[in-house]
Amino acid sequence: MDLRIAHLYPDLMGIYGDRGNVIALSQRARWRDIAVEVRAYTTGMTFDPDWPDLFFFGGGQDIGQDVVGADLQGPNGDAVRKAIAGGAAAFSVCGGYQLLGTEYLPEVGDPIPGLGVLDVHTKAGKQRFVGNLVAETPEGLLVGFENHSGRTYLGPRAVPLGAVVVGHGNNGEDHTEGAVQGKLVGTYSHGSCLPKNPWLADKLLTWALERRHGTVRLSPLEDREERLANEQAAAVARARP
Ligand code: GLN
Repeated sequence: MDLRIAHLYPDLMGIYGDRGNVIALSQRARWRDIAVEVRAYTTGMTFDPDWPDLFFFGGGQDIGQDVVGADLQGPNGDAVRKAIAGGAAAFSVCGGYQLLGTEYLPEVGDPIPGLGVLDVHTKAGKQRFVGNLVAETPEGLLVGFENHSGRTYLGPRAVPLGAVVVGHGNNGEDHTEGAVQGKLVGTYSHGSCLPKNPWLADKLLTWALERRHGTVRLSPLEDREERLANEQAAAVARARP
């Protein structure tokens, strides 16, 4: 069995250690003797829609989102949509999350159109949401930290990834954090997110592997350190929200 990860715009959308999510996904697969190939999908190249099992789309500054948004308005956006329609999964953080949605409206300038594959829309607010983030989900606590001005609102085809326990989450109003729609996941959890949230990493790996390998049951890993990291991050966040 093998896994193909397309890392979207790692040169432009790679702040706050988000590349650690690709490392975590790759390592959790390799610990299960699954071969992994990671390819950068970025500006100046033509995306192959048939190759990826999973996209990772990290966070970035507004200027990076401008450039990426423009690139996604062309054939590369069509290729990502085609791959997702064909069963590829996607994990997105912050700016990448915003661009999987319909649009991101920055504080200054024109709206940045998104891919429209995730039923969310985002508009920048005056106050940045910066700090520890904890959300309750059916599979466990999501922990990380957030740094965004965007307020993201879910449409009817998306469901929240979790309910905010500490921090602001999607918009600081409806107490939701992140979004899930089919095999697509968006979150505001930087950190990077997946090393401290192994339950989410394995969910994404399962979805990604199913595209070419059918139903997959991942063997359990000895996640003692990951669970301790999750518990400690949650305890620190609760003590110092
Ligand atoms: N520029 C976007 C915002 O501030 C995304 C920032 C990020 O990816 N951390 O909401």
